[in-house]
Amino acid sequence: MQREIKMVELGAQYQRLKVELDQAIFTVLGSTQFIKGPQVSTFENNLAHYLQCKYVIACANGTDALQIAMMALGLQPGDEVITASFTYVATAEVIALLRLTPVLVDVHPDTFTIDPAAIEAAITPKTKAIVPVHLFGQCADMEPILNIAAKHNLYVIEDNAQAIGAEYTFSNGSKKKSGTMGTVGTTSFFPSKNLGCFGDGGAVNTDNEELASKIRKIANHGQSVQYVHDEIGVNSRLDTLQAAVLQVKLKYLDDFAARRNRVADFYDNAFAELAGVKVPVRAPYSSHVFHQYTLQLSGIQRDEVRTKLAGVGIPSMIYYPIPLHHQKAYESAINPSSSFPVTETLCNSVLSLPMHTEFEQQELNFIVKSFISIFNSKGS
Ligand SMILES: *Cc1c(COP(=O)(O)O)cnc(C)c1O
Repeated sequence: MQREIKMVELGAQYQRLKVELDQAIFTVLGSTQFIKGPQVSTFENNLAHYLQCKYVIACANGTDALQIAMMALGLQPGDEVITASFTYVATAEVIALLRLTPVLVDVHPDTFTIDPAAIEAAITPKTKAIVPVHLFGQCADMEPILNIAAKHNLYVIEDNAQAIGAEYTFSNGSKKKSGTMGTVGTTSFFPSKNLGCFGDGGAVNTDNEELASKIRKIANHGQSVQYVHDEIGVNSRLDTLQAAVLQVKLKYLDDFAARRNRVADFYDNAFAELAGVKVPVRAPYSSHVFHQYTLQLSGIQRDEVRTKLAGVGIPSMIYYPIPLHHQKAYESAINPSSSFPVTETLCNSVLSLPMHTEFEQQELNFIVKSFISIFNSKGS
């Protein structure tokens, strides 16, 4: 029997790495050190080594990572934080939750990441931080963003939940891993992320020692010494079991990215000449780890394409269907005079195809053949 095609194939990846993963998990079960076991700090050190940054502090999820980073930077109610209008809700959520003011700016139509020119235009005397999101697996254009931040003395918090392992190339040729260019980087280990665990997980990274110790303190109830609370913190830990899983998977992260790139190359080639389909644009300044493979469609009913794909057993997703400024929870927080034409267009035209590390060639052939035939029969 043929297996079902999925957006993300976690089952087959587990089977492929099962021996190592099971061993890592059973070691934790045997130790019963479910909280703060040695695997947590080992994983933090291994990830810091991989990212080539000084400090990694693991936490409970990627949303917490953003919140803890913003708390550690001492951002105060009323401070304005600039972020992209086309992103997952978590980015704006923590800004609003901390009573900071989210200032959304539009994204670039090719890369889907925050438009540096729009950032500059949105800066006011109250602006304290910029949160670029490395969306779908590709770095935002960090060099101009870092220049703007330096000029206006702003923090840069990189939301790296979707692009861990991607690399940015500066104009002088030097390279840095996504999440390690700004003041602080945050990531998520949600199971479907490129480095996913078997539940929730996240991490914050920085090169600043003082900031790192503040982050660690805030993630642990604001305590430096047990039962001594210097400030209000949160309880946000990475379970030992998840750290053990991540320690195994981190070794394969570059291989995962290579596998995802092979899938993207195959899709790109197949769809290159297809009218009404724009394949993902690869920015010259960033490698791509293809967290998502996202097309832009034009001249065709997107829902109809999805229904026809689903009819032959091919799932597809829309990331993201409703922009933040049209979400009830955020409407009042967002300046009514601002407009986000690129984001509006993207929300109406993007379509993400299955993307993961475990495809069989026949599945890719089938997806491509089915997609092209739906396009060629459009209007009939
Ligand atoms: C997944 C994600 C988050 C949040 O991560 P969780 O671990 O689910 O809390 C934040 N930002 C972006 C861009 C994400 O994709």
